[in-house]
This record gives sequence, C-alpha cells and structure tokens, in this order.
Amino acid sequence: MKQDFLDDAVKRNRGLISQGVVATYIPELAKVDKNYLGVTIAYADGTILSSGDTKIRFAIESISKTVVLALALLDNGEEEVFKHVHKEPSGDAFNSIKKLETEPDHLPRNPFINAGAIMTASLIKGKDPVDKFNRVLEFMRLISEDKTLELGEDIYLSEKKTGDTNRGLAYYMKGQGVLTGEVEDILDVYFKQCSIYVTTESLAKIALFFANGGILSTGERIIPKKYAQIVNGLIATCGMYDQSGEYLDNIGIPGKSGVGGGIISPVSSKKLGVAVFGPALDEQGNSVAGIGIMKDISKELDLDMF
Ligand code: GLN
Repeated sequence: MKQDFLDDAVKRNRGLISQGVVATYIPELAKVDKNYLGVTIAYADGTILSSGDTKIRFAIESISKTVVLALALLDNGEEEVFKHVHKEPSGDAFNSIKKLETEPDHLPRNPFINAGAIMTASLIKGKDPVDKFNRVLEFMRLISEDKTLELGEDIYLSEKKTGDTNRGLAYYMKGQGVLTGEVEDILDVYFKQCSIYVTTESLAKIALFFANGGILSTGERIIPKKYAQIVNGLIATCGMYDQSGEYLDNIGIPGKSGVGGGIISPVSSKKLGVAVFGPALDEQGNSVAGIGIMKDISKELDLDMF
C-alpha cells in the first residue's frame, strides 16, 4: 500500500460526509466536528500507514465491545460466556429490545448489540465497578499497545445521563433473571468502556491484534487463538448491526463500528488491521465516509475474508 493511495482515499471519500450526521442521542458526541476523516493501517511487521485526522481522540463506543468480549472470555472461558449471550446476528438496531422479549430464553442475540455488551460487561471480574473498568482499560492499553488511552470523563457523564434505553435493556434482562448484579454498577462499566478516547492508530493496533490471532507486535501471546477467532467471527457476522450482511458483501472484510465514528477491520489473511474515523454516520450508526475508505482499501489490497 502506498501513502499516496491512502491520501487519495481520504480525499475521495470526503464527499460522502454530507450524507451522514453525527450521533446526537449522546450530547457530547453531537459536539464532534463531522468533517473529521482519518485512516490507519497497522501491519504485523510494525509498519504503520496513516492519513487524515489520525491524531484526533474520539470515543471508542461499540468497538470496545470486541475488547470486553475478549477479556470476558479470558475471565470466564468460552463455555461460561456463551451461557449468557448467543452468537447470532440480530438483524435489528444496536439498541433494540425486540428480540430480548421474543426469544424464549430472553438472552441477547450476540455480544455486539447493546444488550449483549451489557451482558459481557457484567461478566468482567473485579471487586467493584471501578476495579472492573480499570481492568478493561488496562487490557485495552495492552492490546492497542497504547499506554496513553484514557477515559473521556465528558463522554462518560453524557452517556450515563442519557443512557435510559440501555437502562431499559439491562432492567429487562434483570427482570427476566438472565442478568445478575446491580444494574447501575454494570452500566457504569459499560458506559465507561464506551467512553475511552482512542485514535485510528490505537484502533488499528487492536484490529491487528485480533487479525494476528491474539498476539502483540512483540510476539507475546495475550489470548488463546480460539478467543481471537470468536471475536473475528462475531465481528464478521454482527459487527455492523443490521448492516452486517451488506457490509461483508460490499467490503469483503469484517468490520466493527462505533457511534463515535470509528470502524475496525481485522484482516487475518493478510495479518493487518485497518481503522477509520469519520463521525458522520448513516442510519444504522456506521461511519459513511469510513465505509467508503474501507471499500477502497479492500479493493486496492485485494483483501478477502476467505
Ligand atoms: N455507547 C453507545 C450506546 O450504548 C454505543 C453504541 C454504538 O456505538 N453503536 O448506545
């Protein structure tokens, strides 16, 4: 991949920004300039290629769900985790409550919709919510190889203040006896994990970590290969919510988005990780110009999931 190509891809896809809007249901996210656009590709040999707004810090939001799932698997093992959450696409919006009610066991469909992510957050070990979140943050710093990652206090308070749909999901699951523990404590971990500030570079490293089967660029193994495969498989089938099938068909590689405007793509076949940032979102809550850049990169590098 040439630097020129990446620069052109950012320029070319700027036109798509006008088709999207920043997330407004979390007031702090509504303040973000929708014109930001950046991309980073991280390769297993340590090469990093970046273009556009790659130094801007933004909220990781739902991309954190991949990291928390990996930690929940480490803390509890595969069998235990999947007693609490399924591995199937929901076909519904990320914050939908519909299938929690209609599924006979009332379990969330997958760990990447909000209900499923609240469930996986409840499985993180720790003596209290502060300890649990600190473990999530440390784990994210480790696998992104970025020690500077921090909680965005402003985003967190905004999520907490306006997170009533998430409260609805959590109380419903508690009412059905499938979520155990204090709802506000569990949501505190969830709101905070979504509010960690990242850059495209830290996210590209997270994507590379999963693409590389759970190994850091130093060669150190952090999670079993099987856990990385689980995360990658769920990114492919559930990462873009009710756009997951279309995204995979259109772009050819898995993608996990967040309403902060980020998308990661772990590409196992080429041992590389791609991350984009573009806060203008489409109706499903996915970055419009970010998807455009992913498409261009996938075509140029002849990327394929298979
Ligand atoms: N924190 C956001 C929420 O709970 C995450 C949603 C997302 O990024 N899709 O609504």
